[in-house]
Amino acid sequence: MNIHEYQSKMILKGFGLPVPRGDVAASPPAARTVAERLAAEGVPAFVVKAQIHAGGRGKAGGIRRADTLDAVETIARQLLGHRLVTPQTGPEGKLVRRVLVEEAVSIAAEYYVAVLIDRSLQKPIVIASPAGGMDIEEVAAQRPEAIFREVLWDLDRLHPYQARRLGLRMGLQGPLLAEFGRIVQGLVEAFWRCDAMLVEINPLVRLTDDRWLLLDAKVVLDDNALYRHPDLAALRDVGEEDPLEVEATQARLSYIRLDGDIGCMVNGAGLAMATMDMIQWAGGRPANFLDVGGGASPEQVAQAFRILMADPRVKAVLINIFGGILRCDRLATGIVTAAREVGVRVPMVIRLEGTNVEEGRRILAESGLNFTVAYDMEEAARKVVELAGRQRS
Ligand code: GDP
Ligand code: MN
Repeated sequence: MNIHEYQSKMILKGFGLPVPRGDVAASPPAARTVAERLAAEGVPAFVVKAQIHAGGRGKAGGIRRADTLDAVETIARQLLGHRLVTPQTGPEGKLVRRVLVEEAVSIAAEYYVAVLIDRSLQKPIVIASPAGGMDIEEVAAQRPEAIFREVLWDLDRLHPYQARRLGLRMGLQGPLLAEFGRIVQGLVEAFWRCDAMLVEINPLVRLTDDRWLLLDAKVVLDDNALYRHPDLAALRDVGEEDPLEVEATQARLSYIRLDGDIGCMVNGAGLAMATMDMIQWAGGRPANFLDVGGGASPEQVAQAFRILMADPRVKAVLINIFGGILRCDRLATGIVTAAREVGVRVPMVIRLEGTNVEEGRRILAESGLNFTVAYDMEEAARKVVELAGRQRS
């Protein structure tokens, strides 16, 4: 689960990490009020930051400096309610619903630090670079030697010598080195205690007065561990998420949108992957991964059907179900009911196998709806790719 920068900073502040003073606001006057409070604490200038679930905001004009209260309000007005397009949002951009108003600071150097899972090592790692800031992707591509890493061999802790070695590689010494080590340890602790998948600070800045500050922060939480953290689960912002994915989550379906145009409904993750492979093999591109689960109910199947039909890019649908726990006849009834209710606007290919399969096929055939029944996966994939192609032309 992704959360906003201001939420990530709130979490990290709770672990004793230094973040800029500031607060979030949902309207231009509220942004001004935040700046007024900061000004009362002696803050002379501000930064207004668009809060969206995407990076690359700086280069897209989503991070703006303001020297007066009026400027804060004006910039907030320019950002709020508008879509911000960054390299990470896609061409349609993301609607800015909140801004973070913070103290502006004077930066001596920008570093990159992140704690994440290295899937090939099956361990968390810390990576750091003295070349932090807005061009870290280029650094990673062109100067990988400027990025250093340490493995958390014990999973939950970085040894002090490792934190120190990272700091030395950042070119630090003395008190700056010690403080850098404490910050890295704090990030590791936060990563571990929150069941995070990523804690990324870019930039971690050294100020001109030699203080450290987490100027930007991105925390990604592990969905599968959220039940252990109701306080973190409450940070979910469904407005930032794909509406179809939100609906699927509520119906307890595993659904991930992809780029293609062939909708798939399958039960079981393994069968869903195999189905996607078959579509690809037959020359098509899946529009989604959708696993209704081994024990899906007819209601879940109906919901899955609605989600597929709601995606305007879907040109044809392949339903590939092995009826074990969910019997084929009940499945067929669920599909027919949903099809009548939602309407079938694209061709559908159904491949059923398992308990009561004859009865299931009979229900589909007698429904009067336009289903193509396939008897094996190869046939099903070929048919659906052909039907999608016809829809496109
Ligand atoms: P991102 O582009 O979405 O990653 O947004 P960031 O929060 O990382 O901000 C982008 C850049 O804005 C940072 O790398 C900084 O150089 C700059 N920036 C952000 N806040 C301040 C600030 O308080 N003072 C100064 N001088 N620059 C800032
Ligand atoms: Mn950043």
